[in-house]
Parts: sequence; C-alpha cells; structure tokens
Amino acid sequence: MSKYSAFSLARHALDPDLPWPRAWRSPEPKASYDVVIVGGGGHGLATAHYLAKNHGITNVAILERSYIGSGNVGRNTTIIRSNYQMGANTGFFEHSLKLWEGLSHDLNFNCMVSQRGQVVVAVSPVQMDVFARRGNIMRLNGIDAELLDRGEVMKLLPYLDYSKDARWPVCGAIHQPRAGTARHDAVAWGYARSADMAGVDIIENCEVTGFAIENGKVTGVETSRGRINAGKVAIAVAGHTSHVAKMAGLRLPVESHILQAFVTEPLKPIVHHVVSWGAELFYLSQSDKGGLVFGGHIDGFNTYTQRGQFAKIRDVAECAVSLMPFTSRVRLLRHWGGIQDMTPDGSPFICKTPVKNLYLNGGWCYQGFKATPASGWTYAHTIANDEPHALNRDFSLDRFEKGNELDEFGIGNWTYKQ
Ligand SMILES: Cc1cc2nc3c(=O)[nH]c(=O)nc-3n(C[C@H](O)[C@H](O)[C@H](O)COP(=O)(O)OP(=O)(O)OC[C@H]3O[C@@H](n4cnc5c(N)ncnc54)[C@H](O)[C@@H]3O)c2cc1C
Repeated sequence: MSKYSAFSLARHALDPDLPWPRAWRSPEPKASYDVVIVGGGGHGLATAHYLAKNHGITNVAILERSYIGSGNVGRNTTIIRSNYQMGANTGFFEHSLKLWEGLSHDLNFNCMVSQRGQVVVAVSPVQMDVFARRGNIMRLNGIDAELLDRGEVMKLLPYLDYSKDARWPVCGAIHQPRAGTARHDAVAWGYARSADMAGVDIIENCEVTGFAIENGKVTGVETSRGRINAGKVAIAVAGHTSHVAKMAGLRLPVESHILQAFVTEPLKPIVHHVVSWGAELFYLSQSDKGGLVFGGHIDGFNTYTQRGQFAKIRDVAECAVSLMPFTSRVRLLRHWGGIQDMTPDGSPFICKTPVKNLYLNGGWCYQGFKATPASGWTYAHTIANDEPHALNRDFSLDRFEKGNELDEFGIGNWTYKQ
C-alpha cells in the first residue's frame, strides 16, 4: 500500500480514473495470533498501531463485530484536552494530547487535529476558585492553562448571554489553548490503515461470543466466524465492556449508558473555540462544515441502544439557548447516540485481569476519544510487557477495594457537579 503524499494527491487529481487503493485489507481470520484485540474502535485500533510501532508485535488480529468506525469512535463530539487535576489523569491525558499533536504525521493520515482552545465558562465566584485550583495544578504539571476574567471571556466569546437577566452569570473561565478537536472517523481510519500496513489483520463483522480459558489462562476466543487461538487477548469494547468481560467470568464496576450528540444546520464561522459550561455538562464546537456540534449528559438509564430519548434533546437545547441565545434560531439537523462505559469514579481501566494473558481496556465515560492515543500506547505496553506502563498503573481493577479511586471531582462520573 502506498503512502499518502502531495505527489500521490497530484497524480490522482490529474487522472480521475486512477482508483485509490483500499485503506486496509479484508483478510480471512487465521487459526492463531500472538495477540487478539476484541473491538475495532479507536482504542483497539490504536493499541494495534502501537503494538507494531513500539513493540514490533505484528501477528495481531482486531476482531470487530460490525464495521470500523461504527462505535463511539465515530459518534463522539471530538473534543481533545488535558485539563485534569489528579496525578494519574494529568500525566496520562497530557501524554495523549502530545501524541495528538503529532498524530497526522505518525499515521500519514490527516486527522484534522485543530488546537483551537477550550474555554470552560464559570457561573459563580466559587467556581472561579475551583478553576483557579485546577489551572494551578495543570501549570505545576507543565500543562497550559489560563484563567480568564469576565471581560476577557466577553472578548473571546462575544456571543454568550451577558445580559442582566441572563439565566446564569458569566464570571470568567478557564482556558486551555492547546485543547481542541480532531476528526473522529479520520482517527479510526488512520489507525486502521497504519495497523494494517504493519501486518495487523482487521477482521470486520466478526463478533467475539466467548473466551477459551484453561487453568486460569486465556488461550483464544470463540467468534461468529469460529474459534481463533491467541497467546494474549485484549478487550477494548467500550460500551460493551461489562457484557464482554462477563463472558470471561469477570464482574466489573462498569455500567452501559447512552450519550447523545447533536449537530445543527451549517452556519458561517462564529464559534472559534470548544466552549464548555460550568452550570451543566454542556460542550459545543463548530465543525469545518459549519454545524454546531454539541452534547450534554448521559440519558440516565442502562441500555445498549444507540438511539437517545427526546427528553434529553430538550435538556441539551435548554443549555445551548441559556448559554448562547442565538442558538434558539438555529435548526437541529440530526442527533445520534453511543453506548458509554461508565465507572463509579469516572476514570478508566487499562490493566491486567485475574485471568492470565487477558487484558482490559474500558470504563471511558465521557473521555475516551481524547484518551485514544495514550490509551493505545499504554495498553500496548501493558500487553507486550505483561505489566502496566507508569502512565496507566493507577487505572487498575483493584483500585476500589484498595481505596485508590480516581475521582476527579469527588462526585463520581457526574463530571459537571464540580
Ligand atoms: C455522543 C458521544 C460524545 C462523546 N464525546 C466525546 C468527546 O468529545 N471527547 C472524548 O474524549 N470522548 C467523547 N466520547 C467518549 C468516546 O467516544 C468513547 O469513550 C470512546 O470512543 C470509546 O472507545 P472506542 O473508540 O474504542 O469505542 P468504540 O468505537 O465504541 O469501539 C468499541 C468496539 O467494540 C466493538 N465490539 C463490542 N462488542 C464486541 C464483541 N463482542 N466482539 C467484537 N467487537 C465488539 C463495537 O462494535 C465497537 O466498534 C463521546 C461518546 C459519545 C457516545
């Protein structure tokens, strides 16, 4: 498969009949692999890429029950940032942001990483104190953060509601200039293409239905296309984490919930940052096509459907209009949902499991997209070395029984109640 370059682009522009080669192969599954990754979302694909790139392990299969990009990797609101407070999260997400900064070159695929900055708007003086603390922690860890007063927010985001009778007063904000967005499906395709070029087999429409476990050690998986033997098996199924892990006899503290996202009709450029809001969990950016892309909280009940409820559309629209009154005149184009893997402390798992050679990546809550590069990087390390990387050591399964929860805001996964 040839590399993408300005030269290949020009060649195809001059000869429109010249077909672009397929981005990745469609191989039949082999009988056995060194590593089988269950789930071809962002995390599974990134893991395969870094297994090949960082550890030279290429006898790898990714088993995806549907098509690449069908899960949350292609359904999210594309926000990337590293404005965390707790030790484990701070280092991990900053490593991720640094990988994002070089990802298009690394993958030879334009992931459209746009570091347009994220502004989280504060709606009370107390919240400004909380943001100051968060900003200080970030800066002490070498991460960019700026505290903005009300006047500075007015200059940056002139379209917010600053009127006397605004539903929520704008007191200021915390700004991370290096945060932004990336094109979600390009990320999936870029990682898939790169892993495939390294020799990884991406097997779509292949559902894992069980695990072969002998004497406490995993030896393969049962799939809708037959048994596949494996030296090591790595779970990366996001919203299906608890369900798939149960097949291996593991009962996890992970619940599946639906989270919706929304996009409006295209507008001329107006929102030049990612804007989040301290009054509720609400986040918005403007896509390259002009649509306002936004989201809120999970719908609030356990489900495996990818379709949300109407009540949540109303809630999120209320947030949009309270913060940005001009959105009341904009039409919603479409909305969709994805299945989120929610943990009690809002932090993920990247770890070994009690079953030998079976590894777990899941519990991503609202933050799995921005985590994709670091997650793949550290999961690949964990699988290759059978021990965690320093950056994911705290994302273990036993943190609850040992009292080492990673609860950013002290309120579990209800991230907006900060
Ligand atoms: C609406 C929405 C907005 C979001 N916004 C953001 C955001 O702005 N920023 C951010 O950081 N995060 C965001 N997230 C979270 C983020 O998208 C997810 O945490 C992340 O994508 C999950 O990892 P993944 O990409 O590997 O998941 P997925 O793409 O869901 O991959 C898991 C894959 O496993 C496959 N699978 C499941 N069961 C099996 C099986 N038995 N056998 C084989 N394959 C199987 C699924 O088909 C799926 O393709 C959002 C999520 C949603 C739903």
